[in-house]
Amino acid sequence: TLPALAEAPADEVLAHWSGLGYYARARNLHACAKLVVEQHDGKLPEDIDALIALPGIARSTAGAILSLSLDQPHPILDGNVKRVLARHQAIEGWPGQSQVLKRLWALSEQLTPMQATASYNQAMMDLGATLCTRSRPDCARCPVADDCQALASGDPTRFPGSKPKKPSPVRQTVMLALSRHDGAGLLLERRPPSGIWGGLWSLPEIPTLAALDDWLEAAGLEAIDSPDSAARLRHTFSHFHLDIDVQALDVRVRDAVVLETDERVWYNSGPFPGGVAAPVSKILNSLVGELL
Ligand code: SF4
Repeated sequence: TLPALAEAPADEVLAHWSGLGYYARARNLHACAKLVVEQHDGKLPEDIDALIALPGIARSTAGAILSLSLDQPHPILDGNVKRVLARHQAIEGWPGQSQVLKRLWALSEQLTPMQATASYNQAMMDLGATLCTRSRPDCARCPVADDCQALASGDPTRFPGSKPKKPSPVRQTVMLALSRHDGAGLLLERRPPSGIWGGLWSLPEIPTLAALDDWLEAAGLEAIDSPDSAARLRHTFSHFHLDIDVQALDVRVRDAVVLETDERVWYNSGPFPGGVAAPVSKILNSLVGELL
């Protein structure tokens, strides 16, 4: 229920989401449940502007919620509907471009009926999901084939246009596999709430090895040996590649007051303290046997 989700600790929510990617969705869902409980007595608002004001709910999602649950006459424009409209009207261009998106919204507004909106929106989503699919549209069975301009053009899959190709940039990072010399475990840190893997647990990260001494000093730790390369891997996000260089070293605690915060734990084995991104979980599973 919404109140149960609102009350759950962020770690528990992110732990359930671990491995699914798109962690902002879990954070938004959680933040949304909290706001609904605080500001709307635990009930989703029935006004579109109030819904759009909630985290993670944009115009199309709000329109879908209100039209499907209450039959309110709001247009929607999810990926399936964009594809159906772009094909039916042969709209050129990639829907990620604002001009194309604007045209598609205008079309969706114009076509969405004031009555039976729930059935219309559901039908549009189903049409995109089942017949007008991305690479193999089943035009022979399509109920709007008669006046579909993309079909008439002879190449329906040319619509909508694809995202202009740009090579993904490569970013570098160093993850620290810090083993406490007395065998207490590997140091894990909770990542900042926003940004990649926000709020998830991870190995501490520094931009380059040159930053190691300052980082250890600030964390109240002291190196016992020199860093040693333990693993290298590439993780690909939707818009960039991340090259991860895992450096292992033994440390001792110099200043427990600095080190011990709610955002850091020594991990030995067993369940993680909260959500952990899939590549970090892979690194941890391979390191725990090796380093501890
Ligand atoms: S006729 Fe083909 S391309 Fe046109 S809307 Fe139907 S399935 Fe899509």
